[in-house]
Amino acid sequence: MMTQTAAAHYRIQPLDPGAHLFEVSCIVPSPDPGGQRLSLPVWIPGSYMVREFARHIVRIDAAAAAGQAVALTKLDKATWQAAPCVGPLEVRYQVYAWDLSVRGAHLDTTHGYFNGPCVFLRVHGAEEQPCTVAIEPPAGIDGWRLATSLSRAGAPLYGFGQYQAADYDDLIDHPVEMGRFDLVSFEAGGVPHDVVISGRHRADLSRLRDDLARVCNAQCAMFGGLPPLERYVFLVTVVDEGYGGLEHRASTSLLCSRNDLPLAGRVETTEEYRTFLGLCSHEYFHTWNVKRIKPAAFVPYDLTRENYTRQLWAFEGITSYYDDLMLARAGLITAEQYLETVAQTVTRVLRGSGRLVQSVAESSFDAWTKFYRQEENAPNAIVSYYAKGSLIALALDLLMCRHSGGVHSLDDLMRRLWREYGQTGIGVPEGRIEALASELAGQDLTDFFARVLYGTEDVPLAEVLGDVGVAMCLRAAESAQDKGGKPAKKTSRTRPVLGVRVVAENGGAKLANVFSGGAAERAGLAANDVVVALDGLRVNGANLEKMVEGYQVGDRLRVHAFRRDELMEFEAVLQAAPADTCELTLIEEIDAATRARREHWLGTMEAPS
Ligand code: ZN
Repeated sequence: MMTQTAAAHYRIQPLDPGAHLFEVSCIVPSPDPGGQRLSLPVWIPGSYMVREFARHIVRIDAAAAAGQAVALTKLDKATWQAAPCVGPLEVRYQVYAWDLSVRGAHLDTTHGYFNGPCVFLRVHGAEEQPCTVAIEPPAGIDGWRLATSLSRAGAPLYGFGQYQAADYDDLIDHPVEMGRFDLVSFEAGGVPHDVVISGRHRADLSRLRDDLARVCNAQCAMFGGLPPLERYVFLVTVVDEGYGGLEHRASTSLLCSRNDLPLAGRVETTEEYRTFLGLCSHEYFHTWNVKRIKPAAFVPYDLTRENYTRQLWAFEGITSYYDDLMLARAGLITAEQYLETVAQTVTRVLRGSGRLVQSVAESSFDAWTKFYRQEENAPNAIVSYYAKGSLIALALDLLMCRHSGGVHSLDDLMRRLWREYGQTGIGVPEGRIEALASELAGQDLTDFFARVLYGTEDVPLAEVLGDVGVAMCLRAAESAQDKGGKPAKKTSRTRPVLGVRVVAENGGAKLANVFSGGAAERAGLAANDVVVALDGLRVNGANLEKMVEGYQVGDRLRVHAFRRDELMEFEAVLQAAPADTCELTLIEEIDAATRARREHWLGTMEAPS
């Protein structure tokens, strides 16, 4: 006989914005007679790192019927157990909210923001049941509105009041923004969409609204419509410098720099705005891919520990592939601009020798301890399942098209995954996506995946891009700022490099990364060393690269650097800059079949029959 546990009722209020404290109350009408357990998640779905949200609970107590105090015993870093009592049990606690990231909670006198995993205790045994949450305005501050995709249960649109969730998983998947934000709305896939902008900005919001509508409609068209949603909300926080996004089932939280948004009165699409639209497109694509089409390891999420999967290449890599591609298909960027973004991704991947050490499948599995916890050795040890994953997706798309004679592409694979897994709620088993790709391609692709996904081979892009009339070339970087994607300005002599990434520091150049096999590593220099002189001449921070360029490949240089507070001397032999910078160009002279494949790929024409 199961203990009948009733739904939980939550109440949350910005108690003291100046002290960054939310006050939360969780009422359990029928607590577990053996002692009700409650806990906070240790991670937030979509961001694969244990973050220990419970450390931000600064005080907590509990009371039963008639206000009688109930003892709470802490069982581990995130779990409390109430003494057996007669319900209703009310647990009251305060959460410190001073993390302005898409994963956290933040509160001051200008606005409040929270993610459910930071503030709502999980009532053990009642996770599957519906719950309610009353969101109250801060005392003494007027004029705040509220934006969330949580289902309203009496609260006015954009207002404080009563909300509801189908279960705990639903409750914690709708971040909430409150304050004096700007708001524009549009419709896509028959569903209202809100774009909520918090923070100071001078953006052209009607342009942003129109552009986002095109992106969303392009994605709805590809999948054949949105999942059933009441509304979809883009929660955008604008800061001076910032970048990030986190996907949810009916919303996304985005952090961007002020300059990423399109300024009023301008018509051009800056690289920053293109990147921001790509971020929006990325998170929106997750509405299908990862929020509903999920790896089996996430069905259900285990919120108490790491959830391991080798499939993040598909959930983040395929999503990263489509994010910019959808901008091209929506007509927001040209084919040339799209190729520039791909070439920059190729460049990023090639610049990390970690791709020769770690496979994308391993990167996915170890995301919790490696990709999300990158330190100085990351470029030598880690490959990004986003970046290389997106190149695998690109190659897979073109290979599926080639082997099926143009009948199937990655779009068909995504629609199939949507039908079989997204719409049924069944988790995708490991290996299933590869098997489906082979099935749709009509060709066994096991060897391709063994090489580029489970192995450390580079994705054979030059070869597959030929199918769509795109030429790939690799050259040396022209400077440390050269991100690839653009033609070289000059055919210069071979550029000498030290094999480091530097950050300027008072009185020298600090080595942020020392690349495997590079001149600096061979000379014995290490990450965090501060180079202060080259060939007996002072290095003042930003000029290290320029100084190195004054020499020739093969030159031997004396390097003076501080390791901690000890001055050390090294001898470095300068190496040639590697050919790790990619350019992609549209070939003009192509046959009709190639042109048709290209137009189908970029979505500018119907599929070739
Ligand atoms: Zn993502």
